Amino acid sequence: MSKLTCPICGAQTVVKNGRIHNGKQNHKCTACGRQFVEDPQQKRIDQPTKDLIDKLF
Ligand SMILES: [Zn+2]
Repeated sequence: MSKLTCPICGAQTVVKNGRIHNGKQNHKCTACGRQFVEDPQQKRIDQPTKDLIDKLF
């Protein structure tokens, strides 16, 4: 079991906070109060970078 880290403040005080409309698990950081959705399929290259690479080649 890996503990989630808040992407906003980096704290590990993250609790489950139901699910969003597309069924993804929603989380809430109790340290900063922000909500976020864990993305297990996080892309290594973000879209703007990928577009740039496509232009370069
Ligand atoms: Zn936080």
